[in-house]
Amino acid sequence: MNPEPTDRELAEPHLLGTLATVGVNVEYVRAHGDTLYRLDEEGREIPVTDFAGGYGALILGHNHPEITALARDLLERQVPVYTQFSRHPAANRAAHLINDIIRRETGTEEPYFAFFSSTGAEAVEAATKHAEFVRSQRLAALATGIDGNVASARAAVAAGRAEPGPDVYERAGADTAQAADQVLEHLVARLERHNDEVLSRPPVYFALEGSFHGKLAGSVQLTHNPGFRTPFAAMAARARFVPMNEGEALVKAVEEERAVVWDLVVEDGRVGVVERPAPVFGAFLVEPIQGEGGIHEVGREFAERIQTVCAEIECPIIVDEVQSGMGRTGSFLASARIGLRGDYYALAKSLGGGIAKSSVMLVREQHYRAEFELVHSSTFAKDGFSTPVAVRVLELLEADGGAAYSRARERGERLRLALERVREDFPDVVAQVRGRGLMLGLEFRSTSDSPSELFRFFAEADVLGYVLSGYLLREHDIRALPTASAVNTLRLAPSIGIGDEQIDRLEQALRNVALVLRESDEQALAP
Ligand code: PMP
Repeated sequence: MNPEPTDRELAEPHLLGTLATVGVNVEYVRAHGDTLYRLDEEGREIPVTDFAGGYGALILGHNHPEITALARDLLERQVPVYTQFSRHPAANRAAHLINDIIRRETGTEEPYFAFFSSTGAEAVEAATKHAEFVRSQRLAALATGIDGNVASARAAVAAGRAEPGPDVYERAGADTAQAADQVLEHLVARLERHNDEVLSRPPVYFALEGSFHGKLAGSVQLTHNPGFRTPFAAMAARARFVPMNEGEALVKAVEEERAVVWDLVVEDGRVGVVERPAPVFGAFLVEPIQGEGGIHEVGREFAERIQTVCAEIECPIIVDEVQSGMGRTGSFLASARIGLRGDYYALAKSLGGGIAKSSVMLVREQHYRAEFELVHSSTFAKDGFSTPVAVRVLELLEADGGAAYSRARERGERLRLALERVREDFPDVVAQVRGRGLMLGLEFRSTSDSPSELFRFFAEADVLGYVLSGYLLREHDIRALPTASAVNTLRLAPSIGIGDEQIDRLEQALRNVALVLRESDEQALAP
């Protein structure tokens, strides 16, 4: 074996190289609250204010004292972490706490059952997988029912108790000269062919344009960004993407995907064909506020439309609150504010308190299938470290009558006003400020028409946001990163502890960024 040089990068070296081109390839060595520290050449700590907030995982900030105290205590007490196939009271307590919150925010009395996992994509996939489990049972029940009806029709025709009706002749492509039993057999062959084709189709998933639901084999097909999705299209069922906030387009998409199966009925001595809706719909996935798509909110009217259409076609709704949930937008669930009720919810990120990997999928009782628990599991689910942490996070959010949610609203408003001031003073470079609470986005205008060749290149290579991140870090000791699928939008997702002074410094830094853009200052942004 050839010894590798020890400094050779083997953990995603290409990505690190990319980070280096914009100057964000720094190592952070310590963190608390919204402050990270990196070291200068002399080994001194340089504080960096963190507006990336672990992509939304840090509603309580880095190393929140109560969370780290709990972690220390758990280790000190030698609490077992991996005890699969045993009782998990902390997981149960977390499930109860989340249920209490869902009841309060949505007004529903129906309980939700919880399935824990480690990452956001896993929670999304647990939800789609559970929905498919339910759908497969519906498919089986439908097929069994049709088989029974076909047998009854055959028996009735054989016994001379019934004759094929005109629609049977028509669909069988037969004429009246043919014998009744032969006509029926023609029809049954066509019915079986048609039904087999419809019932073996992969499920139809609906997701919104701009959506991000994860990058695992299943969830990446529900993520709109073609760069992430298309190389892996053969691995899982594809989604139909519906434009955001366009009710009519949603209705049209649903109409185009509807399918029916054929069934037989015997009535008044006649065999007839009836069409029944086929359960082809897997799920409708919605982020109430899209994160990686550039911070876009679903409107109340569109949410209502999704709800009514899905009820009508019996398509479960998976509300992906992986980024928008856990209090970030000023309520625990961003969906509650727009009146959107999930058959499933996916939560992750801040559920782990900034130190654990934790996610949960919740399914309402009406859809819940107990047998799913025997076919779905993970070594790391419901572990003894992340679940007590989740309980503590939930308790902290709920403490003092939900002071954390008010704080997210108040801090969010303070931050939003700062961003709005920058937009008002630089409307030529800042396109929009969007979002709610501490889930905000600042969109820069494209530099595709800039007089500077370098700036035009940033637009063409779709790297402007990353270049600006490098500038903010280099010049202002501020960490802010673009959203994954809308690179001109900087995401601002600090903790509820973000201070006035930190927000003021961000505003000043963004003013400088805006000036650099206005003046096409190549010197400032040159790599
Ligand atoms: N859903 C949403 C809405 C997300 O924002 C993300 C992550 N950005 C995911 C799912 C996937 O979560 P994870 O990265 O933990 O797999």
